[in-house]
Amino acid sequence: MEMIVGIDLGTTNSEIAILRGDGKAEVIPVEGEFIMPSCVGLDPAGKLIVGHTARNQMVSHPENTILSIKRRMGENTTVTLGNMSMSPEEISSFILAKLKSEAGKHLECPITRAVITVPAYFDDAQRKATRDAGALAGLEVLRIINEPTAAALAYEAGHEENQRILVYDLGGGTFDVSLVIVENGVVEVKASHGDTHLGGDDFDRLLIDHVTRIFNEKHGIHLMNSGLRAVNRLWVALEKAKRTLSDRPFAVIKEEFISGDHHLDMEISRDDYEEMIRPLLRKTMDAVHACLKDALLLPKAIDKIILVGGATRTPLVSRMFEEEIGIEPHHEINPDLIVAMGAAIQGAAIGGVKTKSILVDITPYTFGTRVIAEHEGMFTDNFFVPVIKRNSPLPISKEEIFYTHLDNQEQILVEIYQGEAPLASDNIFIGDFWIKGLSKAGAGNPILLNLELDVNGILKVTAKEKITGLSKTVTMDTTKAGVATNLEEKFRNISALLEGAKTQDDEVLHQPTDAADKNTLISRAKGLRKRAEAMKIGINEEDAAELSHLLEQSRQAIAGQEWEAVEKLNESLADMLFYLED
Ligand code: AMP
Repeated sequence: MEMIVGIDLGTTNSEIAILRGDGKAEVIPVEGEFIMPSCVGLDPAGKLIVGHTARNQMVSHPENTILSIKRRMGENTTVTLGNMSMSPEEISSFILAKLKSEAGKHLECPITRAVITVPAYFDDAQRKATRDAGALAGLEVLRIINEPTAAALAYEAGHEENQRILVYDLGGGTFDVSLVIVENGVVEVKASHGDTHLGGDDFDRLLIDHVTRIFNEKHGIHLMNSGLRAVNRLWVALEKAKRTLSDRPFAVIKEEFISGDHHLDMEISRDDYEEMIRPLLRKTMDAVHACLKDALLLPKAIDKIILVGGATRTPLVSRMFEEEIGIEPHHEINPDLIVAMGAAIQGAAIGGVKTKSILVDITPYTFGTRVIAEHEGMFTDNFFVPVIKRNSPLPISKEEIFYTHLDNQEQILVEIYQGEAPLASDNIFIGDFWIKGLSKAGAGNPILLNLELDVNGILKVTAKEKITGLSKTVTMDTTKAGVATNLEEKFRNISALLEGAKTQDDEVLHQPTDAADKNTLISRAKGLRKRAEAMKIGINEEDAAELSHLLEQSRQAIAGQEWEAVEKLNESLADMLFYLED
């Protein structure tokens, strides 16, 4: 049976794991280490490098190295790598492709299917971007699961009792906390809170501010204006000092000639460092209390606290828990590896392996629609009605009835928002669509609105005129700002070109699954093409010619809508890249 791997695609580091035959999760080493930096770069010869090699050149070639791309996932943006401009999902796909290829080598079989984890607080667009990154790397992403959920799953695999677990996950760039109930082998997330822009990187930034201020006072030079190389040297040194402070009361930072003839030579105490980061950790503890409140639990009702993510090694994290909750967090499973292990357990379960736990996930968001209604004594067309409430178990399908406002109303605009505020405009706009051709009924014509959120947090919206059954279903694929992710927009443009203009009737749809399949094929072909193009430099002429030939055939097959051929060519390209990347 083909392995389904579990991948923790982290901001700073990423890991890949499988469930072994004996039921134990095993993290697969990448170049001899279990943790691979989530770093992508171009080496001086222009060859794509990923992981440790890319991280090692961060200081010498910062302009050709990208770190923390996870923070940009879901944004409609591009980053520059050499002379290429790429989307965050394309950069992430290189990280995933590297993990995939290393696991393939280690297990001696190609890897094509995966479960990938994301922070519980990732929104729809960020989850989609993660899935796209998987597709670009040639992975069928069977499930996107929340990182704290995966951690609880890995933890539960070694424990029998029923318990209430608080999973506190503080990584490089993101923070979330979840209350997970484990009962009779079912792992259920009851509540989640978090911040997608809070993590160990912010601690680095505080240290950088502190050190540059003192350096400036001493030398009259602002290190942040001393060039990218100096900034990166500083950051690498301070990140190391930060880790030292987890084990020692003092850390010494020495960087010779960091700016002209000036050296950096400084000592930082753990006490001073803790004062700097305390306000940020305070924010995380407030989220812990909010999470408990949502789960209707008092702190003393928690059985265990599990720490996840490298930044939880900061001693102040455990101390704050002891002071505020009175429980010492558990450290027995490596906080860097636990998430990938949980993902591997979930992957095996999807693949039919009997595991001890079943996963029940929740949505951390409320989704609803905008309607005309009375609000605080006034009529407004901006009233928000929740349909799916936050903390509902996934998958979930909820239906509500709404009514047309006018006589003979022939069309309605369905708008979907995410949030809790009573006014729609105070929430995050997710997407909208028109349903046209309603029967000419009087005002009050009932319209059923169904919101379906799948286990990956992807939202499908159906609006149906009750009396005629006229319906329209749309998968919400727009970001907070109402723009499609870069990649998805590209996919859709391509499929739109291929399929020609759609009629109104075509739009009254339950999305054809074959269109989704085509999109997957095209996205995979695009991902392979990108990897192949990055690969062409540095391989022998014969291989380069063979690659070009396959790429040209793939292009022609897509243009000719020969989907079977596209699929076969994808496989041939993936095989070839698998061996070339070896
Ligand atoms: P993750 O995203 O889980 O890989 O966590 C990475 C973050 O953990 C980075 O900000 C690291 O600097 C931080 N980190 C790793 N080890 C330590 C440590 N021993 N003490 C404090 N922070 C650490």
